[in-house]
Amino acid sequence: MTIVTREQRLVARAYWMINHRWLAIVGVAAITWLSVNLVDISINQNGIYLLTIGLIIENLVALWLLEFVKKRYRSNLDTPIRLIIHFQITSDLLILTGMLHFTGGIENPFFIIYIFHMVISSILLSRIGAFIQTTIALLLFGSLVFFHYYGIIPHNCLSIEGLPNPELHHDLYYLTRTFGVFAFASYILVYLTTSIGHRLRTQEDKLTEAIEQLKINDDIKNKYVLRITHDIKSHLAAIQASLSVLSEGVFGKLEGRQKEFLIRAYNRTQTLTNFARNLLQITRLRLENEIEKEVFSLGDMIVKAVNDRHEELKEKEISVLLELDESIDTFFGNKTSMEGVFQNLIGNALKYSEEGGLIEIKTHDNRLKIKIEISDNGIGIPRSEITKIFSEFYRASNVKGTGIQGSGVGLSLVQEIVKVHGGKIWAKNRTKKGTKFIIELPKTDK
Ligand code: ADP
Repeated sequence: MTIVTREQRLVARAYWMINHRWLAIVGVAAITWLSVNLVDISINQNGIYLLTIGLIIENLVALWLLEFVKKRYRSNLDTPIRLIIHFQITSDLLILTGMLHFTGGIENPFFIIYIFHMVISSILLSRIGAFIQTTIALLLFGSLVFFHYYGIIPHNCLSIEGLPNPELHHDLYYLTRTFGVFAFASYILVYLTTSIGHRLRTQEDKLTEAIEQLKINDDIKNKYVLRITHDIKSHLAAIQASLSVLSEGVFGKLEGRQKEFLIRAYNRTQTLTNFARNLLQITRLRLENEIEKEVFSLGDMIVKAVNDRHEELKEKEISVLLELDESIDTFFGNKTSMEGVFQNLIGNALKYSEEGGLIEIKTHDNRLKIKIEISDNGIGIPRSEITKIFSEFYRASNVKGTGIQGSGVGLSLVQEIVKVHGGKIWAKNRTKKGTKFIIELPKTDK
């Protein structure tokens, strides 16, 4: 479970702005080229291209600042990142105003793009920060309109070939009405978006807190389970040793029924020991979440897991078909836990198959991933339960009443092991009869 802090979210959003600015840069260049060459709009394209270069420089500076701040302030990133976002938005506003200057000022409907920056400020900055950026936008746009009106700077008309010049920058009534409505709508918009943004941020923070608490509780539970299971396992080992000594007749020969019940008790303790071992391994994996790795052959491991079951396979007259790709002979992972994966899956295939069944184990290698399929033609899994079987202690409804023993822990351990190796596992019902388990593991370099 990964917890994303408020600072990490802020950094991610600063990068998000940088990535989207690259798109905006391409967009501006494309629109300018299309307007001049296809629509015949007369604009000062050199001015626009120059400002586009300014946009590229701004983006590179923002990227550099972000990397610098991340290295310099490993913690307490909040304020410097917010300052970088302020820098980015203010620079964007300056460049946008410059572009509007070259393309008709208030006559250009693209002035509506100021709205984007207001919304982005409301999402990324505090409420005050968003109002500051909105005011900067309105001041810049207002000054442009003012300077064009009084002729302090030359006005570039946005004229289309064959159509009369709009000349709206001289129309005081139009200017005050348009600018007034725009300013009013901008402040209302920022008020609304910051309110929604604030509510969402509070909920996000509460969620992060709840996840953190959940993780703490989960760790406490795992440590508790680890201790109890460990104790149970050592007591079981002692009981098993005593039962073994008794059944071997060290303290006197046992009669038929006595021996039979002793062996039954011994077998039960064996099942319980396996259960405790699985539970211990899952809990350790969850607590540590990392494993020691070495290079070994998955192929040899699969063959060994099958050979270990030789007696049981023979008893149930089950055949095993192996199609193993050579490329799985050098796998980098945790040997002991991967052994557990195959012991569990092959053990299940055997356990849930009827007499005379067939188990097929195939591996495929596609340069990036290793795929291992273990199929049987046994009792199968009810369709609605196929994803639930990986939950701890879950046993499918069709095993009830069959007398097949199990604890429902094996598959959750298998899933946990596959996960820490960066892979995934899922089950499928076979078209005819039986189940197929598919494991996908990434090919990792040593
Ligand atoms: P169990 O000890 O019960 O076998 P697992 O965690 O290994 O526990 O498996 C969980 C459940 O998934 C099993 O109880 C069974 O219902 C189902 N299952 C697992 N493997 C197979 C299989 N090869 N064929 C049919 N059902 C299976």
